[in-house]
Amino acid sequence: MSQLNARHIFRYDGSSFLIDIEQMTACLIHDEAVFKALEDISANPRLPLEQGIREKLEKLDLLPARVGKQEKKRKSEPIPIESISLFVTQECNLRCIYCYGNGGSYGSGGVMTQRTARKAVDWLIEQSGKVKELRINFFGGEPLLNFPLVQDVLEYALERGRACGKQFEFDITTNGSLLDDEKIAFFKEHDIVPMVSIDGPKELQDRQRPFKNGKGSYDVIAPRIRNLLSVLPESACRATLIGNSDPVAVDNALQKMGFAQRYIINASRSLFDTSKDDGGGGEGVLPPCSTKPSRKPRRSSRPPEAVMRRNSMT
Ligand code: SF4
Repeated sequence: MSQLNARHIFRYDGSSFLIDIEQMTACLIHDEAVFKALEDISANPRLPLEQGIREKLEKLDLLPARVGKQEKKRKSEPIPIESISLFVTQECNLRCIYCYGNGGSYGSGGVMTQRTARKAVDWLIEQSGKVKELRINFFGGEPLLNFPLVQDVLEYALERGRACGKQFEFDITTNGSLLDDEKIAFFKEHDIVPMVSIDGPKELQDRQRPFKNGKGSYDVIAPRIRNLLSVLPESACRATLIGNSDPVAVDNALQKMGFAQRYIINASRSLFDTSKDDGGGGEGVLPPCSTKPSRKPRRSSRPPEAVMRRNSMT
């Protein structure tokens, strides 16, 4: 057993980073000696840890908790995978000013093929062990640019699920610009409650989330959202706050549009953008619109709410 949690360390743009795979956390490593020790341990997992380094790693929560035999046995069993996110396209028709994914392309762009998507579904089933309820999130870029693949994956997953006794649920996060009757009916039919990324009042939405050609997107998206909410009133929204945006005004605008479930998230620095200051200066960058609360908005149980969150990558 490794003396440290499973982890990934790397350097980017002069800074050192650590991702703790077991705890799903990421942090900047400022202490060069700690980073060097992590590199050495990666090369030689049996290398003894100096006391000073051990204490620092303890502070980073990287040392596995001391566990009994039973627990060790349990920990060595493979952890079942219950959900995956599929980047069905790395293209987007918007150019949000805070998108760190280069319009959802993450630099390389591309569209997922049916073969890849189906292999991912097969992999999820294989890795799910005894878990019966699985989840697939459609992600981008703007996933509705590849709606045929979304449809195909859903049908394929349901079919595979029926054959092997697994149930699937699906999530999608969309910028709302491509919502039409066909897609909304599809969501309704398959019990998908979309999460719409929208920044609230027209002036903010147009400034922060313009189309690729620079034109404001509000006048296109607002009627589509009204249509969505008339069919799926439980649909949720997620707004990004940057600069001096007034969260109350944003929340009021979203409530007025008809969203019962509203998530408002402050911009913060990207893990990969350590040079910029987001302290109200509007320069912060956020993950593309697919970032969302970890749980799917439920149809029935949740009361109307507005949730304020702070993104915390570092
Ligand atoms: S934040 Fe989302 S909608 Fe905006 S450009 Fe990036 S991927 Fe597109």
